[in-house]
Amino acid sequence: MPKMEEYSAAAGAAAIEELKVISARLRGKTILNVNSTAVGGGVAEILNRMLPMMTELGIKPRWELIKGGEDFYAVTKKFHNAIHGTRQELTPADFQLYRDTLKSNMATMNLDADIAMIHDPQPAGLIDKKPAGAKWVWRCHIDMSNRQDDVWEFLKGYVSRYDAAVISAPAFSQEMPVKQFQVPPSIDPLADKNKELSDEEVAAIMRRLDIPTDKPLITQVSRFDRLKDPLGVIAAFKLIQPYVTARLLLVGGSADDDPEGSEVLAEARAAAEGNSDIIVLCLPPTSNVEINAIQRASAIIIQKSLKEGFGLTVSEALWKGKPVIAGAVGGIPLQITHKYSGILTRTVEGTAYWMKRLLHEPAYAKRLGENGREHVRENFLLTRHLRDYLLIALYLESGRQDFIHL
Ligand code: UDP
Repeated sequence: MPKMEEYSAAAGAAAIEELKVISARLRGKTILNVNSTAVGGGVAEILNRMLPMMTELGIKPRWELIKGGEDFYAVTKKFHNAIHGTRQELTPADFQLYRDTLKSNMATMNLDADIAMIHDPQPAGLIDKKPAGAKWVWRCHIDMSNRQDDVWEFLKGYVSRYDAAVISAPAFSQEMPVKQFQVPPSIDPLADKNKELSDEEVAAIMRRLDIPTDKPLITQVSRFDRLKDPLGVIAAFKLIQPYVTARLLLVGGSADDDPEGSEVLAEARAAAEGNSDIIVLCLPPTSNVEINAIQRASAIIIQKSLKEGFGLTVSEALWKGKPVIAGAVGGIPLQITHKYSGILTRTVEGTAYWMKRLLHEPAYAKRLGENGREHVRENFLLTRHLRDYLLIALYLESGRQDFIHL
């Protein structure tokens, strides 16, 4: 695990100093995190990197997992989809199963801490066992703007009893009787996915993956999901193919356990069929350094999402100084200012126009990438993310209502 000081090259010495100053007032405090998985998924990934930093700063982080059977996760998956806006049928038995599972967790879990950060809907009901004097934050990573009413009303019964809620983007905010803070996610500049790689390392990985680099690569890294619009990316590329020398690369994870994923992958493969300059590639979920190399080897990165949570791939690419063309949805406009730190598009034609233009204007494309990298440095690195959490902890610990406004 990298040490705090190693982040100063990426985040700046001032960011590290700031963390030390803020954490001095939280030294010895216990901060508990509760979620439902220790590996896989963005929350686990961030906690795995962030908690050692807290320890280094003299805070006592704890991490507890909520446990449940398959039936419980089937219900919370329905909650998740319903909050995201995909209509779900929930029965009274589903809600009761949630209550019962939370109750049995409460009987065995140690929830002692000065401050607790409870992530997403799965453990939200633990609030019933909040110890006296502790401060509890509900950390929601999901876009709630199209939430289904019955599920939201049920969750709100719990969430309203927290001391604060944290959301990732302003558009995700919901009316609730607790203070809300906006804290976007972050990337870890020292993780395999983002660490510096030499040109030789990049070239070796591209050879190993058998991806030709003789033409500029236009790349989208995304799960094969309709909302990531892989077919729209292919359609945009086909529009410009007569006028450019370039290759399109769509990289996604293996879709074995996701029926819709394999369907979308098959559709993408069919759309690419017979076109030697379109590559559709599936990589295992552990391919972090490979994704890093692919992003670095690309001339342009696309993230043509139709709906998005935050869109971490955008910050990942900008951090590598790459020009990014992305859909103006979810958290993407937080990361890209149009024509300054990247390009925001809304249509296949718009995406095609900017692909061609950036290929033909490499100096402009480079400037977009450079501006994007500085924007990520200021706003989307792990150190800023930790700072925001510590400021919220400090605010709650102070017991004052007028202390700071984030
Ligand atoms: N990712 C990956 N391999 C893949 C596809 C995606 O490692 O084949 C990573 C990607 O680099 C990013 C994350 O998965 O770190 C996706 O996060 P994002 O917020 O972009 O989208 P989500 O999948 O959460 O909707």
